[in-house]
Amino acid sequence: MRSFEFKPSRAFLVGLDYGGDIVSQLKDFLENNKIRCGFINGIGAIKNAEIGYYDQKSKEYIKRRFDERAEILSLTGNVSLHDGEIFPHLHVILGYNNRIYGGHLFGGEVFACEVFVIELEGNPPRREKDPQTGLNLW
Ligand code: ZN
Repeated sequence: MRSFEFKPSRAFLVGLDYGGDIVSQLKDFLENNKIRCGFINGIGAIKNAEIGYYDQKSKEYIKRRFDERAEILSLTGNVSLHDGEIFPHLHVILGYNNRIYGGHLFGGEVFACEVFVIELEGNPPRREKDPQTGLNLW
């Protein structure tokens, strides 16, 4: 187990732009505001979402893209550093007309998205390749 202590710092409500990529917009926001550590929570609607499921045996993401429009029932994630860059790690639960999918969020086109970002003050953890899982972990 690893743990890191922080103090809550700035808090933001962010409305993402229609038509832009959800992950790129969030990364731009974090970089523009120099938020190197924090957590993210959001709701909204999206189309052309690309989400992934991490196959623990092959240690690879199985990606899936959905052409349909979906509700973002939950967008959640954290912010830390990976290879010296600000890295938002994002997961979503997406609600379609008659089913729900979730996973690691790789991208998608924003229809509307309201995000709550809390910055944490302190020394941000750096992600490094973990040999046991194959993931870039703190
Ligand atoms: Zn993930």
